[in-house]
Amino acid sequence: MRDAAIPTPRAGPGHGARLSINLSAIAENWRRLAAQAPQAACAAVVKADAYGCGLAAVAPVLRRAGCRTFFVAHLSEGLAARALLPEAEIYVLNGLVPGTGPAYAEANLRPVLGALDELADWAEVSQGTLPAALHVDTGMNRLGLSPAEALTLSGDPLLDRAGVALVMSHLVSAECPDEAVNARQIAAFAAIRAALPSIPGSLANSSGIHLGRKVHHDLLRPGYALFGGNPMPYRETNPMREVVRLEAPIAQIREIQPGETAGYNARWTAPAPRRLATLSLGYADGFPRMASNRGYALVAGVFCPIVGLISMDLIILDVTAVPEARRGTLATLIGDALDLDTVGRAAGTIGYEILTGLGSRYVRSYNGS
Ligand SMILES: *Cc1c(COP(=O)(O)O)cnc(C)c1O
Repeated sequence: MRDAAIPTPRAGPGHGARLSINLSAIAENWRRLAAQAPQAACAAVVKADAYGCGLAAVAPVLRRAGCRTFFVAHLSEGLAARALLPEAEIYVLNGLVPGTGPAYAEANLRPVLGALDELADWAEVSQGTLPAALHVDTGMNRLGLSPAEALTLSGDPLLDRAGVALVMSHLVSAECPDEAVNARQIAAFAAIRAALPSIPGSLANSSGIHLGRKVHHDLLRPGYALFGGNPMPYRETNPMREVVRLEAPIAQIREIQPGETAGYNARWTAPAPRRLATLSLGYADGFPRMASNRGYALVAGVFCPIVGLISMDLIILDVTAVPEARRGTLATLIGDALDLDTVGRAAGTIGYEILTGLGSRYVRSYNGS
């Protein structure tokens, strides 16, 4: 219990950054992905608090768009999703932790069983009445039965006793269509489906959906693309609508002389007279320090480089190219030309990590629905 007299810090208006999440764009992205494979159903992967976008806001919007099946990573996330989605099918990806079967049963959650002992455990709880998914590992070596183990289950009554209602696998490199591993996984999964013919199948994540019909099977499992990530990074244009915008007003402007430095450890030196702008967000807000001296923000549509090391709560921009920039002018850190994939690349990571790291100090607003 918190003492009511102790104020807890809360995001509020001020210098800090504003995070806006476009819920109608999420719904539209779900419909676009579903339309890629009209003969398959389309689920939504909403693990990690809906990829950082906020499960409580996102789940009802996807439900209203027509989504009936949801995937999360952990039992705790499944319980949160169940409270928001009383009717939905909710699968929990990370497998059955020993002793948690009754909690799954009570909340009507479906474990994604990733090993033979998990299958046996769940059969005891289910007795053929509570559904689950079977995860087969076709190349990730992470979670799931081996293909050989899965093939031995052909015709085994254990599948019915464990209520196996879905067989699934996960692609290693779906965003790289030329990788040979895709064809190997597609073939391995087809063989498993043939051995377990009465069980619906699911293989495609966001990028997998764009690899063609052989990957679609019965249920699509997009996550990243729902939130605006580019499922086809090998194409110039992103087919998804932008969902996340991160903007911060300039807190201060200063003019500096050639040879002066910016930020901790003087890791940037002005080569000429420069105009610098300071923004009130930093790595404590999930904006990666790795983007120091590499990333950009957009000010009045102009790419302004991040200069010096990103601090815990502050970022310095070189706004020399935008003479009209002043205190209060908005800088865009995510949005428009700075899409998630671009921001991820500038920080030596991927857009997924940018999304799931979005901080808690931002003033969040949700638009559309
Ligand atoms: C996270 C995850 C997905 C969704 O992947 P995206 O690339 O975000 O679309 C699908 N399936 C599994 C097993 C996952 O772990």
